[in-house]
Amino acid sequence: MAKYGHEQIHFFQHRGTNLKAIVAIHNTVMGPALGGCRMRPYADEQEALFDVLRLSRGMTYKCGVADVDNGGGKSVLIGDPHTDKTPEMFRAFGRFVEGLGGRFYTGTDVGTTPQDFVHSQRESSRFVGLPLEYGGSGNTAIPTALGIFQGIRATARELWGHEDLTGKTFAVQGVGKVGALVVDHLVKAGGLVYITDVYQPFLDAVVDATPTAHMLGVVSPNDIYGLEVDMFIPCALGAILNDETIPNLNCKAVVGSANNQMLDPERHGAMLHERGILFAPDYLVNAGGLIQVADEMKGYVPERVLAKTNSIYEMLLQIYKHSKEQNIPTWLAADSLVEERIARVKDLKSVRI
Ligand code: NAD
Repeated sequence: MAKYGHEQIHFFQHRGTNLKAIVAIHNTVMGPALGGCRMRPYADEQEALFDVLRLSRGMTYKCGVADVDNGGGKSVLIGDPHTDKTPEMFRAFGRFVEGLGGRFYTGTDVGTTPQDFVHSQRESSRFVGLPLEYGGSGNTAIPTALGIFQGIRATARELWGHEDLTGKTFAVQGVGKVGALVVDHLVKAGGLVYITDVYQPFLDAVVDATPTAHMLGVVSPNDIYGLEVDMFIPCALGAILNDETIPNLNCKAVVGSANNQMLDPERHGAMLHERGILFAPDYLVNAGGLIQVADEMKGYVPERVLAKTNSIYEMLLQIYKHSKEQNIPTWLAADSLVEERIARVKDLKSVRI
């Protein structure tokens, strides 16, 4: 807690439903903590704790850069999402979260679905990202993909002085919920794409939906890094920018939805910077989904979500400018912008209401 600056950590156990959960609240200066709920068969509590500490801190930065009125938090459930889930487990989790009195809001992440939280919301009003029929805002991949597209447009402006993507080439890693929608945006804007995935049905669906003139090819997962393209678009996994992959990259920029793309931001951010490859900070360009669930807390207004997600374009240009002026990697420029913003909000909250 001291190392990362966390405010609170809660451990929950309910024997009757086999629930074991941890909630980490990193920072509530901007508002109640917000962050997804991840379910994984963690080896032990230590591993789960490490994950929730790291992820909740990341959420503070993501909320800060997206300029939503929330701070960073995250929850983890220790268990196998394929075999251990029961409605009662999620109701018990709902009761614990409700007990936090509104300091923490949560929704889906890896291993959990909106349907799981249909059970939790019976016990608590602190769940977001619910299905439309439960008053939620629906599929977050839609605003997430839009944010990535805006990031790509801003990066094009930075590289070439305009946003025209006609004939520009892109290597998209992962064509799941977000990646497939990003391909669609790119193709409609005149871009040409290579794609890869480890799941054949998703590849087939994207190939079927893409006009052949825009499809440069399907490549193996290992070959995606070395392709000579304008931009690499990682929409699958984290930590894919590392010592092995960065020297192979043959692109001008990296703009994608995967969280924590750099294995070690200090080291790999510097490597990208030295190679002259523009890196769009992942927690900014993939903030569309967060913007949507944060909006649910205020009463979901689709137009507001659209406007805020579109503003990722301007925000990224601001970060590129700051990075150039200071000659610092873009991730550092983004972090310092967020830290300044949090400090300003902290100061104005000295006014009592
Ligand atoms: P998803 O599970 O629908 O898609 C991920 C895809 O990556 C899958 O099709 C999977 O088969 C593929 N994949 C896995 N390993 C691969 C590999 N080695 N090489 C190539 N492809 C591989 O997930 P998603 O919702 O589309 O999210 C994609 C990424 O964006 C994730 O990292 C997620 O954390 C992040 N993200 C998603 C959202 C959202 O709203 N869905 C928001 C922010 C960030």
